Amino acid sequence: MILDNLEKIKSSYDICIIGAGASGLVISEKLSKKHKILIIEGGSFDISEKSQEIYAGKVIGDNYFDLTTTRLRYFGGSTNHWGGWVRNFDNEDFEKNEKLNLTNWPIKKKSLDFYLDETCKILNIKNYFKTSNFEMPSFNKVVYQRVTEPHLFSKPYINKIKNSKNIDLCLNSNLINAEIKDQLVTKILISDFKNYKKEINSKKYILCTGGLENSRILLWLKKNNPNSQIFSNNNIGKYFFEHPHLHVGDFITKLKDVKRKDSDFPAFFLQFKSDQKKNLNILGSTFRFYHYPGSSNISKKIIAELSCLAPRYLESLYNSFDKKLVCTGQLFLVSEQYPDFSNRIELDPNDLDLFGVPKLNLFWKKGSLDKKTIITSSKILAKEFVDLNLGRISLNNKIHNGELPEDEKDGNFIGGNHHMGGTRMSKDSKSGVVDENLKVWGTNNLYVCGSSVFPRGGTCNPTLSIIQLSLRLGDHLNKILL
Ligand SMILES: Cc1cc2nc3c(=O)[nH]c(=O)nc-3n(C[C@H](O)[C@H](O)[C@H](O)COP(=O)(O)OP(=O)(O)OC[C@H]3O[C@@H](n4cnc5c(N)ncnc54)[C@H](O)[C@@H]3O)c2cc1C
Repeated sequence: MILDNLEKIKSSYDICIIGAGASGLVISEKLSKKHKILIIEGGSFDISEKSQEIYAGKVIGDNYFDLTTTRLRYFGGSTNHWGGWVRNFDNEDFEKNEKLNLTNWPIKKKSLDFYLDETCKILNIKNYFKTSNFEMPSFNKVVYQRVTEPHLFSKPYINKIKNSKNIDLCLNSNLINAEIKDQLVTKILISDFKNYKKEINSKKYILCTGGLENSRILLWLKKNNPNSQIFSNNNIGKYFFEHPHLHVGDFITKLKDVKRKDSDFPAFFLQFKSDQKKNLNILGSTFRFYHYPGSSNISKKIIAELSCLAPRYLESLYNSFDKKLVCTGQLFLVSEQYPDFSNRIELDPNDLDLFGVPKLNLFWKKGSLDKKTIITSSKILAKEFVDLNLGRISLNNKIHNGELPEDEKDGNFIGGNHHMGGTRMSKDSKSGVVDENLKVWGTNNLYVCGSSVFPRGGTCNPTLSIIQLSLRLGDHLNKILL
């Protein structure tokens, strides 16, 4: 049922979910067969300035997106403007790497992939994410899927909730505080935009407020509950990471797979091989080949450069193929980022939102290992293209000279709007924020779901894994709340 104001919320529920984005909606459906669920959503069914403004904050460090545009604060969350690219994690993303001081996930890939079929049905995509050998020594070819249905997490879920006996959804209701006694959240405080407030009781609470906000809210609860056990957790907000996205250069190739006639989206992805990464002590990277069907300017530029730099290669391309088969485009790199303790989310005591909750400060920088990963993998790709005579890559000058581009004009596309870490999953309370069942260490009834719990992020987009985690959490709560 959809409740149009806070007064209609019942006195108690089995589970209260905070946030109606992809994660909160999937968990609510999974739990609703057996339990009474309340979903608290800060925004309404449409974007509004007053809700979006609560997401404002400062970024300290490298150039980053504006925090009010890199996420959306209304029903459906950031999936209201996402790209829809998805892939599941690889085995190696879950592993520890002692040389690089990289932590592991406390769970294995198979415990997420157990939910891959169910996740693909929700996303209405094929369960097909093949990794295959490719003719280049350092790269595998990988398959991504794309969710093409816009607003998958809004309209269909509005109808499901309207027709559900067990789910109540209250819009414009913002979690602004909670009381934690010993290890138990005893109540939470909700406010609407007219400043009407209500306390809510539930057996369990799940924070699904998005990658950055999960940390902000937990930091705020920690500050307000100095006698609780979460007060001693020093990892909240720490180890934030992104997927640096960069336009690393332009390409010309005779590889037919790269060419895509039906759209501007890439159809061809090459991923740096696991054993090569280990040999070189670098992180993961995946290259996306964007063949723009109408990119005649790029083609002309590359062909002009090639005629000076590699005239014989150009001639052989022209001789062995019909001119029309020579394909050009832009090469993008999506790279893994090292989860660094100093990349973090903090509360800003001098800047409060309209409910009096401190806004966030995000400290974010790419470190030396991130830089080494981007430069090494780009140069190896360019070299293997030449060695195998697959084509030529004209690398961005800065990358060619061993530096990172500094701003967008230079080809630095900042990140992927993928907010990972901050409440990471760990096998003990000293090294993270939630346990393997996503329960906050030091509490008995508070859970967190979303990409903030990722200990490492590989190079695949996060939302498919968020949904897998949400289904897994739903199953876990269904079992323990029998
Ligand atoms: C431009 C862009 C492109 C993207 N492209 C891709 C892509 O191609 N592939 C991919 O996998 N991912 C992509 N993403 C990331 C993807 O959108 C997120 O991973 C996903 O939306 C996260 O879902 P979530 O439910 O964890 O959080 P969110 O979607 O952030 O939802 C959180 C919800 O919580 C609510 N909320 C927040 N605070 C409160 C509060 N205090 N009280 C009550 N409610 C609250 C919000 O209103 C929101 O509805 C993209 C993101 C952006 C911005």
